[in-house]
Amino acid sequence: MYNVVRRMLLAMARNPRMQERIVAFPPSRRVARRFVAGETLDDAIAVIRALNQRGMKATLDHLGENVLTVEDAREAADAYLEALDAIHQEGLQSGVSVKLTHLGLDLGDEVAYENVRRIVAKAADVGRFVRIDMESSAYVDRTLTLYRRLRRDFDRVGAVVQAYLHRTPEDVRQLIDEGIADLRLVKGAYDEPPNIALHDRQRIREAMFALLRQMWAPEARAKGSVAAVASHDEAVIRYACTLAARLGVTQEDFEFQFLYGVRRDRAESLVAEGYRMRIYVPFGSQWYPYFMRRLAERPANLFFFLRALVSG
Ligand SMILES: Cc1cc2nc3c(=O)[nH]c(=O)nc-3n(C[C@H](O)[C@H](O)[C@H](O)COP(=O)(O)OP(=O)(O)OC[C@H]3O[C@@H](n4cnc5c(N)ncnc54)[C@H](O)[C@@H]3O)c2cc1C
Repeated sequence: MYNVVRRMLLAMARNPRMQERIVAFPPSRRVARRFVAGETLDDAIAVIRALNQRGMKATLDHLGENVLTVEDAREAADAYLEALDAIHQEGLQSGVSVKLTHLGLDLGDEVAYENVRRIVAKAADVGRFVRIDMESSAYVDRTLTLYRRLRRDFDRVGAVVQAYLHRTPEDVRQLIDEGIADLRLVKGAYDEPPNIALHDRQRIREAMFALLRQMWAPEARAKGSVAAVASHDEAVIRYACTLAARLGVTQEDFEFQFLYGVRRDRAESLVAEGYRMRIYVPFGSQWYPYFMRRLAERPANLFFFLRALVSG
């Protein structure tokens, strides 16, 4: 049942007619606000300031994906440059997260590369980090190729790997060998067929455990492998804490990452236990696909959303 609802919501996330209807409906916006910092950069900056005051870092995501014109891709990159300026001027502890299809990947690798390079260069100037989100499996090869190109010139940029993909252990092995395994580890948020990705929740969880062991093996760490553990799953969190203690990975050597609006109490308690926590803070008007993926992750969110729709 969980997988049926999940697949339905992920299909809706890609459907433009559904998008028009849901976005036009005022209660949707209200519910989306639980997961989105707001529509403007000022909204996001205020959220990041408050997180920093509570001992958490942030990574700022300007919402948008699969842009259709070169101008839109360039404007998306310009918005990130503006965000990095604001983060720097306000002295906030935050990097940025980018999606390559927001920066023009559907229009060609060079379009996306030129835009992401501008962002990574600016981040280097102001001493901030850029994380390249991972999108659906169709984009993994091109995303990792562009990541490798960027790493020839820059250090402050990292990628994301998805535990549900069958290919990921091999990708991680290669990135470790190349000495560029600065990776956010996630389960994976897209609808993928079984020949490409695991579907069973317990097996995906075990794949997360295995990737953590791979990335924190002494030989991998000697090659600079760094993992950000991006999961709200208590079993993954506990596993990461125990494994880190056993392998001598100190609390300064890794961080947890949560999405804005999810398990806030647990984020606070991990900080109180001395762990580093970074919150992924999305903002902007293009919140629909992001919001639908959040609904797909947890059926309770869907019921909450439907109740809000019914009560207007
Ligand atoms: C910082 C961060 C960055 C991410 N970046 C990417 C990326 O680049 N590419 C990508 O494919 N995926 C990304 N994801 C999403 C990820 O792939 C998963 O879809 C998502 O994190 C849910 O998996 P989980 O590990 O939290 O475990 P789950 O088993 O899904 O959730 C465990 C528990 O966490 C809570 N929870 C989880 N999700 C929600 C939610 N939406 N609302 C309320 N409670 C929830 C519930 O209590 C749930 O029982 C990211 C996730 C995080 C935290």
